[in-house]
Order: sequence, then structure tokens, then C-alpha cells
Amino acid sequence: MKIFNTLSRTKEELVPLTPGEIKMYVCGPTVYNLIHIGNARPMIVFDTVRRYFEHKGFTVKYVSNFTDVDDKIIKKAIEEGVDADTVSRRYIEECKKDMAAMNVKPATVHPQATQEIGGMLEMIQNLIDKGHAYAAKDGTVYFRTSSWKDYGKLSHKNLEDLQSGFREIKVTGEEGKEEPGDFVLWKPRKEGEPFWESPWCDGRPGWHIECSVMSKRYLGDRIDIHAGGEDLIFPHHENEIAQSECANGTSFATYWMHNAFLNIDNKKMSKSLGNFFTVREISEKYDLQVLRFFMLSAHYRSPLNFSADLMEASKNGLERILTCADKLKDLEDTAQEGEANEAERANLEEVSGLRDKFESAMEDDFNTADAISAVFELVKLANSTADSTSSRFYVVSLRQEIVKLCGVLGILTEKEKESLEQDVEELIEARQQARKDKNFALADEIRGTLLEMGIVLEDTREGVKWKRV
Ligand code: AMP
Ligand code: ZN
Repeated sequence: MKIFNTLSRTKEELVPLTPGEIKMYVCGPTVYNLIHIGNARPMIVFDTVRRYFEHKGFTVKYVSNFTDVDDKIIKKAIEEGVDADTVSRRYIEECKKDMAAMNVKPATVHPQATQEIGGMLEMIQNLIDKGHAYAAKDGTVYFRTSSWKDYGKLSHKNLEDLQSGFREIKVTGEEGKEEPGDFVLWKPRKEGEPFWESPWCDGRPGWHIECSVMSKRYLGDRIDIHAGGEDLIFPHHENEIAQSECANGTSFATYWMHNAFLNIDNKKMSKSLGNFFTVREISEKYDLQVLRFFMLSAHYRSPLNFSADLMEASKNGLERILTCADKLKDLEDTAQEGEANEAERANLEEVSGLRDKFESAMEDDFNTADAISAVFELVKLANSTADSTSSRFYVVSLRQEIVKLCGVLGILTEKEKESLEQDVEELIEARQQARKDKNFALADEIRGTLLEMGIVLEDTREGVKWKRV
């Protein structure tokens, strides 16, 4: 399997550290707001990477953090007159609901920075003991970038350029730095902010140290894949490598995967620019499967521009696949018992060729755009060859193939036939009532409750549809 490694800037053959197992760490969101669809891109892309490994029989240990101590969270907490914990807890819950609605699997572990302070203090002390970090007079601890010759290897930056570049942006308050390129591991508390005791000062961690620590704790000193958006290459991932490799004395991640940006009007969608749509907003207009399908319609390393037209195209494309799967399901109930005939057997050869095409696309650095083309070809074949005269074996084989390949992409095709449990039914009823009463806050609340129970709702012209996540 070929994977583009940002570290070497080449496509490489993937060799896992432990045969049959993939250890994967994906940097997660800072939780001070509802996530926007830019944040959803790495979630969907790397969830699909995970699903493909699982499809090929690997066990995947998938760790993705929530950054729950940060200036923006503290600012929001102050604005609302609550503590930082209240803000982060709220948005972690909301993020998990969005993930479920996008059919992003929960990680094996979702660690939170505030729960991992002990490990951070240990790693920082270890770095100080080895001469890779130092405490300034005010108790701030910095990583000494000049102590490590490999600094810059991921972002392909030259340390000398970095040091001189930083000279100009060295700001007051960082006088304790030995070199401008050094970065913060621990910083002193400020009035009104959450803090923890440490040997250097009461304070809180810098951002980068949390991922080095969580990755070590849940996956070990070495991992196969470390992933995130391309804005994380520098400084976040560069600094993680420095911390982890210096503390653990071994190489950190074998492969670095970075998704390109989701843009809007060809500018990065971001909270700070204010040019974003939240996943929640999009869910009011579309089934989030459409968003997922849209994200996978481009290669993850290509920029993707968000537009209503492209979303409509994704909606139509997805509908074509789902309609075909439904049609095959219906044919299954009426089809002739018995073996496939000669023409069907020839078509099934073609199906197997299309599965190979799908897998080859995925094995070429997860080219989901080409993988989707193979699914469309399969749909075309099914639409033109399966009808009421087909054998059951044939229609079942076709449908299973579509369901399986869509499953790898995290797209659900199954028409749910299960009956609703009593309490789910009552909640849906209550939500309908709330909507009739124009009590949309309550309706949303109920939708959230159902989500937590693993039920996603979809409002269609024919009424409310639901599915299990
Ligand atoms: P943040 O909450 O900003 O730290 O972002 C969480 C994750 O979303 C990181 O992996 C970012 O790189 C990624 N991300 C943020 N904005 C975008 C965007 N517009 N397109 C793609 N990825 C993004
Ligand atoms: Zn990180």
C-alpha cells in the first residue's frame, strides 16, 4: 500500500511497526465552539483511512484528542461567566454528536489534555534532564530547539532561518527564551485561568506537548501514522516530533499524513476568518452523508472548494448509489432462486475487477475520488443488467459489493427495516410535536438525545427517517 509521507515528501510502501496492526494518532479540535466543516475534513478523511485498513483485516488503534485547555476556551468561558471545563465539556459532547452524524467512528481513545497533565509534567522533566528544555526565571519552560539537529525535518525548514526569522517576531513576555525559535512547554498561570502545580510554576501546558504525551500513553513511543490538517505541519507537528524523539530516544511516527484545506471562495475556511459553516448548519440542509461524500470526492491532499453546486452534485451522486442499492434490495425479494446464468457470471467477473479498481485507488495514497468512480461504474453495471429476470444470487452479489465498498467510505446504504424501540419512537413523536409547536430548541435537544442513543434523524418530504449510527 502506497502512502504519501509528508516527512520524506515521497510515496512510500507502508510497512506497519507491528504486522497486522496500525497505530494512528489524529490531532483533534480545540473545543470552544461547534466544529466547522473544515474541521470535518480530517475527521472524515482519516476515518476513511482507518476503515480501509480495517477492511483489509488490520486492527487499528486510533487515538484522537480534544484540546480542552487553550486561550480561546478560556476567553469563551470568561465571556459566558462559567469555568473553562463547562465550555469544553459542552463542545466535546456536541462534536461527538456531529461525528456520529457524519458516520465518523469514535476513536479507540479520545484523550483530553486536562486529564493528562501528569504525563506532561513527566515528559517536560525528562526533556529538562536531557538538556532539551530549560525553565526561565518566570517559570516558563521552553524547548531548546538548538539542542536537536533534526529540528525542522518535517516542515523542511532550516533552523538557522527559523531563528533569524523569529528574531523579528520575538515578543515581550518571552525574554526568558534563549533563542527565538524555542517554544513553550509550560507557562505560568494568569489571573482567572485554570492552572496546575508544577516544579517550575503554577501554570498550564503549551499546546504541542499534549499530543506527544497522549500518543505515547495510548499508542507507545513509536506509531505508524500521525495525521492532521496541513496547517499543523509547522509548528505543531514539528514540535511534537522534537518533544517525542528527544524524550523517548527513538523515532516517533513512521508516516505523516496531512490533508489540504477545505476552502470557501478559494480561501481557507476557518473560525478566525469567520468564513465557515458549522457541521450543524449543513445538517439542517443536507443529510451529513452528503457532506461525507463531498469530502471524499477529492483526493485528501488536494484543496477542496466548498460550494452549493458541488454539494448538490454530491447529493445527486450519492442518491444514484443509494437508489441502486434500494432497487437491488427490492429485486432480491422477487428474484428467481438459483444460480447465476452465463451472462451474469461474466458480469460478476467485471464486478470483481471493479472491486480491484476500488482497492487499487485506495492503495494509491487513499485516492477516494478514483475509488468513488469505481463505485459509480458498479452502479452503472447494476442498473443496466439487474432486473426482475435476474437470479437472486446475482442481485445479492451486486448489492453486497456496493454495500461493502460504500461501507469502506463510511457511506451507509442499508435500508433500515428494524422496528423502532418504544422509547425511540416516543422521542421522535415528542420531537415532531415540538416542531409543530415551533419549539425548535426542544426539537434540537431531542435530536441530540437520540444521537447520543446512536439514532440519526433525517427530515424528508415523506416524513422523518432514521438510522442507527
Ligand atoms: P483546530 O480546531 O483549528 O485546531 O483544527 C482541528 C483540525 O481541523 C486540525 O487538523 C486542522 O488542521 C483541521 N482544519 C481546520 N480548518 C481546516 C480547513 N479549512 N480545512 C481542512 N482542515 C482544517
Ligand atoms: Zn496534535
